[in-house]
Amino acid sequence: MTEQEATAQGVAVRSGGKPALYVVATPIGNLGDVTLRALQVLREVDVIAAEDTRVTRRLLDRHGSATPLMAAHEHNERSAALRIVERLAAGESVALVSDAGTPGIADPGSQVVAAVRAAGYPVVPIPGPNAAATAMSASGLGDGRFLFCGFLPARGGERRSVLGELVAQTAALVFYEAPHRITDCVEDLRAIFGDDRSLLIARELTKIHESIHRCRLGEAVQWLNADDNRRRGEFVLVVDGAPAAAKDDDAGAERTLRILLGELPLKQAVALAAKLTGAARNALYEQALAIRKDGQG
Ligand code: SAM
Repeated sequence: MTEQEATAQGVAVRSGGKPALYVVATPIGNLGDVTLRALQVLREVDVIAAEDTRVTRRLLDRHGSATPLMAAHEHNERSAALRIVERLAAGESVALVSDAGTPGIADPGSQVVAAVRAAGYPVVPIPGPNAAATAMSASGLGDGRFLFCGFLPARGGERRSVLGELVAQTAALVFYEAPHRITDCVEDLRAIFGDDRSLLIARELTKIHESIHRCRLGEAVQWLNADDNRRRGEFVLVVDGAPAAAKDDDAGAERTLRILLGELPLKQAVALAAKLTGAARNALYEQALAIRKDGQG
């Protein structure tokens, strides 16, 4: 029997009947988006460690599973990890789920997985929904590569500083964002990356009000502001990467900036670097702040 055939026959087969942690992806909105294997695991394990037991109970009720739940969220993850390892030591199998999508991706889970690995028990991923991959798949952006950046900092200055470090990245950039920050975030994307790059605004994916809009960064804020509903719900943003030629230009601009920062006050260095290289002043400013913060200029 191949491993694939064995796995299809039951969850216990993969880990040879030994206790294991199953990291199970669950829907990001539409409760129908759960794999057959995920349902089987959720039915057969001894306990499910869930970010919010009420959310997971709804999913289990919908699919006719009565497996007991325990809480494993960002405020108790360390102690939950210890309890999970104890249960594995007692011969039980455990599933780990978050409220939506894949555990450990902009969600709790990595501490539990690390503890289980350190204790020497198998960790079995059960793949399924993930908001970043879902948005990326409908974007038509990039060349198959993307950089998952998760949530940007909530404060504008820190957010622009992180974005400044991504200006030369040629892979598409994927961000998660909350509705109350969506406009500010898109304004900052435009300030740092300029008007011309493409932006995908993926809202409420897989849900009744799903909307997926692609436009230039220069048009995005106006589009968002044209209808209050466009700023409601859960968001994934995908920004096209820098053109390959721009990467060389940006590397040159960064070199120039670093040299000038060694000789001049920050503002003067930025102004001169912008004149010399033609790079955007906002992006150079954020880069200069990051360089100074790292103590390299
Ligand atoms: N672990 C999840 C995953 O695999 O995608 C991500 C959880 S993170 C706490 C929640 C964020 O993911 C939301 O604020 C939003 O940015 C994004 N997200 C989750 N579900 C989404 C959906 N249905 N549509 C758009 N974005 C979504």
